[in-house]
Amino acid sequence: MMLRTRYDVVLLLGAPGAGKGTQARVLATALDVPHVASGDLLREHRSRGTALGQAARAYMDRGDLVPDDLVVGIILDRLRQGDAHRGALLDGFPRTLAQAAVLDERLGEHNGAVRSAVYVEVSLRVLVERLSGRWLCRACHASYHEVFNPSAAGDRCAACGGDLYQRPDDKRNVVENRIHVYLRDTRPVIDHYGALGVLQRVDGDRGIEAVRADILAAAARPPLLYQPTLSTAAVVRG
Ligand code: ADP
Ligand code: ADP
Ligand code: ZN
Repeated sequence: MMLRTRYDVVLLLGAPGAGKGTQARVLATALDVPHVASGDLLREHRSRGTALGQAARAYMDRGDLVPDDLVVGIILDRLRQGDAHRGALLDGFPRTLAQAAVLDERLGEHNGAVRSAVYVEVSLRVLVERLSGRWLCRACHASYHEVFNPSAAGDRCAACGGDLYQRPDDKRNVVENRIHVYLRDTRPVIDHYGALGVLQRVDGDRGIEAVRADILAAAARPPLLYQPTLSTAAVVRG
């Protein structure tokens, strides 16, 4: 039996280091949908040594985007899993207009749409200091900062006790390329969702708690052109 349900997706957009990963867990919990981060999925492929992970490696190490067809395949597979039947919080995807076109088309086939695109705006000069002090949990992908957000468990993850590590692509020379690629390829994606009327801007240049409060409010607010339906209104209001 085929059950067609309305399917809604919320996007977390912003430059590398804007704070997407830091905020994603709480937002995904509030929306009651899984947190789907393309970078985490790619790094998992690499650590499992899959063909896809091997194909992605050189691009990631240089700070370039992995080719669209590889990333789109991973995300669409993930969205087909059972826990995503009501939707998902996408973090780090789409990053090109081509990825956005595939996503919009796929959601449309399921009578869904990007309900809200939350854009965490951070000035470019703070990105490098955020990324150079970033530490990540190998097990649950929680994101810490040695100065701005240290783990309460010292050199282990406060959430799960896992091992913390620094990403090789958070080195300054790679970060500069990632920011360049973001401005060239991903800024147009933000404009695209702006034109669709679903963009919600949040000032990400403040403390983690202040940003979090605004992100939760933005994701709950109906976008300008958004027409609520019974099922999506239920998702927003919980
Ligand atoms: P950040 O959290 O710093 O924004 P990510 O973890 O999202 O970085 O991504 C790390 C790397 O993985 C990117 O530099 C890129 O090589 C690759 N990547 C992640 N998401 C995508 C995507 N949607 N399209 C292409 N490449 C991606
Ligand atoms: P993204 O997923 O957008 O690449 P992260 O969530 O991993 O970014 O955050 C990048 C770094 O900045 C991490 O070290 C994180 O602890 C830190 N950080 C995140 N949000 C803030 C904030 N509002 N103020 C200061 N540091 C932050
Ligand atoms: Zn952890």
